[in-house]
Amino acid sequence: MTQRLSLVVPFYNEGQNIRAFHDAIMPCLEAVPDSAWEIVCVDDGSTDATLEQLVALAEADPRFRVLELSRNFGKEAALTAGIDAASGEAVIPIDADLQDPPELIAPMVAAWRAGAEVVLAHRSDRAADGVMKRKSAAWFYRLHNLVSKTHIPENVGDFRLIDRVVVEALKQLPERQRFMKGLFAWVGFRTVTIDYARPSRQAGASKFSGWALWNFALEGFTSFSTAPLKIWTYLGAVGAVCSFIYAMFTVVYTLLRGISVPGYASLLVVVLFLGSVQLMSIGLLGEYIGRIYLETKQRPTYLVRKIHGGSK
Ligand code: UDP
Ligand code: MG
Repeated sequence: MTQRLSLVVPFYNEGQNIRAFHDAIMPCLEAVPDSAWEIVCVDDGSTDATLEQLVALAEADPRFRVLELSRNFGKEAALTAGIDAASGEAVIPIDADLQDPPELIAPMVAAWRAGAEVVLAHRSDRAADGVMKRKSAAWFYRLHNLVSKTHIPENVGDFRLIDRVVVEALKQLPERQRFMKGLFAWVGFRTVTIDYARPSRQAGASKFSGWALWNFALEGFTSFSTAPLKIWTYLGAVGAVCSFIYAMFTVVYTLLRGISVPGYASLLVVVLFLGSVQLMSIGLLGEYIGRIYLETKQRPTYLVRKIHGGSK
């Protein structure tokens, strides 16, 4: 009894990695007993030779299928495209740079066969990432899980195994701006975790700069929590109470001691502080309204130019 399984790989300018990736994953896939694999490669609008190399792979091996997106839509969209196209009973998204060790695939499938619907690969050691990336990631998870009801497991990337029922659940989620980590966590299901140490990138540089990561984190917060909108109400209330007490104090003080002129500095501080709090809260509203705007346009998450290869 063979089971059809899918590997989903987003590629963005990974020309230098494709050969090594292919050579590393194939033995790992073949090591899984009773399995028939399809490898869904998503070319996310690469500008190097990635697409040609992928198409060559698909022509040589019917297990490979290449989804050619019309432009660069970003990793989240590329992953969504691949998961939508995958037909296996279980789907494993994996990075093309070999930072997700393919040796884990066999134990993941084993855990799935033992009854898990989601098998998470947990990075127990992120020594390969820089100090800044590790620290900021840790803070992101801590803060996110503090303000949001959807708990995102710490140090778990998109590398995981998901059962067909989970795939179908993901497809039901209508949002266009897809924060996959959050969506994966939101759908739930029986989950098992496997530990691994995260290695360095095989070749090339990470596509996520500090600024891109910051925007990614904002996306995560605003898609899964409205707490940032709410804190301003309380902050405003506390500020109003404080200023009322201060006003009362000033009236009483003036009645008892007469008018004292000094006080420009404190006045300025109060005005500037409140002004900046207001600006920040307007900015926060903007983050959400911007997302409402993007969602209401109902544009598709990605566009496929062409599908290459595949046995069916
Ligand atoms: N990726 C993509 N589209 C993008 C950026 C990245 O499909 O716009 C792919 C990339 O090719 C790789 C995976 O997403 O397979 C992870 O990217 P990267 O290694 O740059 O991220 P990091 O490991 O630094 O988080
Ligand atoms: Mg990487």
